[in-house]
Amino acid sequence: MSDTIEIGKGYIAWAKDETTRGKGASGGFVTALMVAALEKKFVDNVLVVKKKGVYEGIPTMTNDVEKVLNAAGSLHSAPVNLAKYVKKSGKVAMPAKPCDARGVIEQAKRNQVDIENVFLIGLNCGGSMSPVPTIRMVKELYELDPASVVSEEILRGQLIFNTNDGEKAIKIDEVEDKGYGRRVSCRYCITNIPEMADLACGNWGVPKDKFGNATFVQVLTEKGVEIFKNAVDAGYIEFESASEKSSKMREKIDSTMRNLAEEWHKKVFSEVDSLTSSDRLAYYIDVFKNCIDCGSCRKICPVCACGDDSKCLQMEYEDDSYKLSMFHMVRLLHLMDSCIGCGQCEEVCPVDIPLTMIHRRFAERMQSRLGHIPGMNMDTPPFYEVELRS
Ligand SMILES: Cc1cc2nc3c(=O)[nH]c(=O)nc-3n(C[C@H](O)[C@H](O)[C@H](O)COP(=O)(O)OP(=O)(O)OC[C@H]3O[C@@H](n4cnc5c(N)ncnc54)[C@H](O)[C@@H]3O)c2cc1C
Repeated sequence: MSDTIEIGKGYIAWAKDETTRGKGASGGFVTALMVAALEKKFVDNVLVVKKKGVYEGIPTMTNDVEKVLNAAGSLHSAPVNLAKYVKKSGKVAMPAKPCDARGVIEQAKRNQVDIENVFLIGLNCGGSMSPVPTIRMVKELYELDPASVVSEEILRGQLIFNTNDGEKAIKIDEVEDKGYGRRVSCRYCITNIPEMADLACGNWGVPKDKFGNATFVQVLTEKGVEIFKNAVDAGYIEFESASEKSSKMREKIDSTMRNLAEEWHKKVFSEVDSLTSSDRLAYYIDVFKNCIDCGSCRKICPVCACGDDSKCLQMEYEDDSYKLSMFHMVRLLHLMDSCIGCGQCEEVCPVDIPLTMIHRRFAERMQSRLGHIPGMNMDTPPFYEVELRS
């Protein structure tokens, strides 16, 4: 406990309170940190994901410590992105998967969030699942009554569902070979460790035989140091410096996951990549013609900050199909330098247009040419002089 907390270092940490430690996904560090931040008035509010059963979570901004304690644990079947739940309203601490953190940073660039007031408690992420396909998977593949499941977890490469009669575990590779599992955009995402956040927390690299349930915490910024210290000084957290072996183990798992993601990338994009350019254009026209103009993709997008008076939805054309294709074309251009690949647009599309895949196909090429990866820092998106909204 004599270790000092420094930027760039890794620690193994856990909640001192045994109940919090038991309820947390890997030792309750994140929950204890946020509870300490509230109780010591280090922040005004905390954003957590309130569990609605096993298959869904509700983003909840609160200063109620009980709600933060009840939200402990990881929900893998909660695809929601948290970026648009943060506004300019005092100091906030929030758990953030890499796409949550990147969304918050992009919102901050568009003057929707004051980044200095947001403490991004990053969570490593190997991917999340959609609620409805998950319920179907539990029924068809796990042969369990979805209503009987009391909790789920991912452990040693297995996706496990627990009922009062015991657990059923299947290897994630097998789950995905059979067409179930993580959302498509998560499978090819290579950003597993939230290096753009203030802290990066996860279970990779924790020697369980020595520590039991605990979190590997990488400290990334001065804000990260401050909120970590606040919890230690308040007596909510115990920690040790991570050994080199732990750090190497974490890096190795991350690298394996990134290689897997590259393989998935080839699989997901191969069909469209293999088309000739005229066939590809025909493919885009064909999928976009199903659009019913609901605007959900734009509203949910954690990067977009156009607001409801946005001009891109108000193009008056006599021919509706022209209006729709213009809408998607404008979005493709808007997002080319800013899409973070979170998958939200595809998640909410009521007519199943593979929007994320299409946006990524454009964005990856453009972002690589511009040498710009959005959501990693406060660099201005290259295409825009950002017009600040008040
Ligand atoms: C979808 C998902 C996938 C993950 N994959 C990995 C992985 O592959 N490797 C790894 O090392 N770690 C992964 N993690 C992180 C890990 O599960 C723990 O969250 C982390 O180790 C911190 O544990 P803790 O006990 O300190 O957190 P806790 O004290 O349990 O606090 C966790 C906090 O996360 C919030 N939360 C729960 N579900 C979500 C969600 N879907 N989105 C945003 N916030 C949420 C809760 O509200 C709670 O406040 C993943 C987490 C999630 C949510």
